[in-house]
Amino acid sequence: MNIPFNKPFLTGKELNFIEDAVESGHISGNGKYTNKCQQFFQREFGFDDCLLTTSCTDALEMAAILLDIEPGDEVIMPSYTFVSTANAFVLRGAKIRFVDSRKDHPGMDESKIEDLINENTKAIVVVHYAGIACDMGKIMAIANKQNLYVIEDAAQAIDSYYITDDTQSQLGGIGHLGTFSFHETKNVISGEGGMLTINDDKFTERAEIIWEKGTNRSAFFRGEVDKYGWVDIGSSFLPSELNAAFLYAQLKNMVEIQKKRLRIWNRYHEGLQEACKKLNINQPTIPNYATNNGHMYYLVCESEKQRNAFITFLKERDIQSVFHYQSLHKSKFYRKKHDGRLLPKTEWYSNCLVRLPFYYELTKEEQEFIISTIHEFAEQFKADSAYSHG
Ligand SMILES: *Cc1c(COP(=O)(O)O)cnc(C)c1O
Repeated sequence: MNIPFNKPFLTGKELNFIEDAVESGHISGNGKYTNKCQQFFQREFGFDDCLLTTSCTDALEMAAILLDIEPGDEVIMPSYTFVSTANAFVLRGAKIRFVDSRKDHPGMDESKIEDLINENTKAIVVVHYAGIACDMGKIMAIANKQNLYVIEDAAQAIDSYYITDDTQSQLGGIGHLGTFSFHETKNVISGEGGMLTINDDKFTERAEIIWEKGTNRSAFFRGEVDKYGWVDIGSSFLPSELNAAFLYAQLKNMVEIQKKRLRIWNRYHEGLQEACKKLNINQPTIPNYATNNGHMYYLVCESEKQRNAFITFLKERDIQSVFHYQSLHKSKFYRKKHDGRLLPKTEWYSNCLVRLPFYYELTKEEQEFIISTIHEFAEQFKADSAYSHG
C-alpha cells in the first residue's frame, strides 16, 4: 500500500463539460463556463463580483495592480506563506513587512500588525492557512482605522467562513479583494486555476480591464462601447473555457467533496489524539470565529528532529507526509531585504509542521493504517528518546 500525499480527484463529469465547450466552438476565455463558474460563486458565497484567473498567483498580481502598488509602498503579510503571496507585490516594487504566526495557529498574529504600520503602508495581505480564518474582525478594524486595503489570500479557503454572533461570511469576501486557487492540491481543482473576488465596487470596472489584457473588450461585447482598445495596463489573466468547464464539474460536486474531506479531517483528529499527547505534538485548533473546510490535516511536532524522524518513519512504510513553507523572511531572495526582526513562531512552523496525506479518495482503511503507523511511531520515538537521554 503506497499512500501519496495528494491525489487529484475527478468527479467524472469533467470531460463531458470540456467536450461541450469544444463542440460549442468557444474555447478561449470568458465564455459560457467561465460565466457559470462565476455565477456559482456569486450565488453560493455571496460575492458581489468575481473573475476566474489562470491561478491564484495571477489573482494576487491583479490585486497588486488594482491597488496601484509602486516602489516605496509597504505591504504587511505573514512570513509563513507561499511565495506568490509576496511575489505579486514585490513585482510592483513593494517592500514586504513580514508578520509572525500565532502560537495556536500558523496564520498571522494580528496583534503584531499595528506596530508595522507607517506612512508608506498600503495594504495588509492575510492568508487563511489550512482554510482556517484569520481574525478578520480585528484585521478589518485595524485597516479601517489606518485607511489600508485588505487582500485575502483565500487560496486554501473555499467553503470556509468567518463567524460573528450574527453573521457568517465566506472567506475571500471580507477584505477589499480576495484570491482563490484551483491548483490540483486544493479542495476544488482545475489543474491550474484561480479567481479574484472584488468586494469593493470601486475596483470592478478596472479589474475587468486588467483581466482582458488592459482592454475594454468585455464592455465592447456587452455593447457598452462601439470599439475596444488599450485603456490600461493588464495581462492575460483569464483561463480558457477548457479550464472553466473542468472547474464547473468540480463545483457541481462541491458539497460532496466537502462532506468527504471533513470526514477525513475528523477521523485524523480523533484517531491521533492519544499518539499526539504521547509525542507532545500539537494538533490543529479551530478558533471560535472560524469554520473548518477540511483543506489539510497538519501536526506541529515538538522539534525539527522529531518532525524529520516522523516523516522518515512514515516514508519507510510508504506513507508520504510532507512539511510546508520555508519562512519567506529567511529565504535566499528576501533575507537581505527583510528588516531583521526575528519571527520565532514562523520558524517553529517551518521546522516542525508536517502535513498528512489528504485527498478525496483516501479510504478509511488507508487512513486507519496511517493512524496506527503514527501510534507505532509514538511508541518507538518515545523509547528512542528515552534511550538517547540515558
Ligand atoms: C496554493 C496557494 C497559492 C498559489 O496558488 P496557485 O493557484 O498555484 O497560483 C497562493 N497562496 C496560498 C496560500 C496557496 O496555498
